Amino acid sequence: MRRALNRLAFLLLALVATLGPERGKADTGVVAQDGAEGRQVATTGFVYDEVFLQHETGPAHPESPRRLEAIVKRLEEKGLLARLAGFAQRPAAQEWILTVHSKQYVARVEKSCRQGTAYLDSPDTPISARSYEAAVEAVAGVLSAVDAVVDGTVENAFCAVRPPGHHAQEDRAMGFCIFNNVAIAARYVQKKHNLPRVLIVDWDVHHGNGTQRAFYDDPTVLYFGVHQYPFYPGTGAESEQGAAEGKGYTINVPLPAGSGDAEFTRALQEKLKPAALAFKPDFVLISAGFDAHEADPLGGMRVTSEGFAELTRSAKGIAEECCQGRLVSVLEGGYDLEALADSVEAHVRVLME
Ligand SMILES: [Zn+2]
Repeated sequence: MRRALNRLAFLLLALVATLGPERGKADTGVVAQDGAEGRQVATTGFVYDEVFLQHETGPAHPESPRRLEAIVKRLEEKGLLARLAGFAQRPAAQEWILTVHSKQYVARVEKSCRQGTAYLDSPDTPISARSYEAAVEAVAGVLSAVDAVVDGTVENAFCAVRPPGHHAQEDRAMGFCIFNNVAIAARYVQKKHNLPRVLIVDWDVHHGNGTQRAFYDDPTVLYFGVHQYPFYPGTGAESEQGAAEGKGYTINVPLPAGSGDAEFTRALQEKLKPAALAFKPDFVLISAGFDAHEADPLGGMRVTSEGFAELTRSAKGIAEECCQGRLVSVLEGGYDLEALADSVEAHVRVLME
């Protein structure tokens, strides 16, 4: 893995040197190149940083740094890593985190990490000294992917970040999540890039309660969640459809334990697609959890890696039909290392097609 990262770093440095300062601000994203000819080969971006490994959760915790190591190792072994674009610059994330989380909460996260507190809000969300930095950089990484997709440096991107985000709420950590990466990215798309309508597709096996809550009365963000139900965190019933002006802009497809590729695919085809085409998003974000995989130790579903490829095709198709393919996918759950690597590989291959 280190060899691959070194190689990626080398590609980035080489390209930054080639581009020079006159290319200016537009070059927040950097395209990996095919060494010999300098031909551009990457259309899909990839966000990863070793700081994400420094969010330590303890030896027995399923949401471990090993997850990202398994992903990067797999992408390297299959020759995919070198074909993905890295991003040299990341926007400062702090101000954007405050579009979703309270100032008090952000300060509490930072202080708790510095003081060596064992966990945030509940024992399932352990923290370590560097968890705050990892969480801030996870957000920054996702925002850099948004920038690169909007400016056309890449067509789409996958962000291998941790901690995950979709359970995190305005003033509360929850379910391994500290800052809600995808919710913050949605606000960034709207406020930084003036793209008013954002679709969030969340196929993590757990309902994305934090994301749903952030946009529950907001008609500018369509939140779609397909998940095991009843299950953690308890929300995500079909009757949860948004409130006030946001009524109808939250769509939940709760599925019983044991559901697999057919049920998940049908949910996207029959429930998400018509709503998304009517909504006409300017940008698509995926909360890409892979814990609905049949081998996952936390989830009780039977989705396969090929199933995740099919879900990716559906979401990508919506982005192509509505918003020139603008799509950023962000890792959420997925706790069997082999199944996670398989699923991410399948997901990334479809993004690269
Ligand atoms: Zn999950």
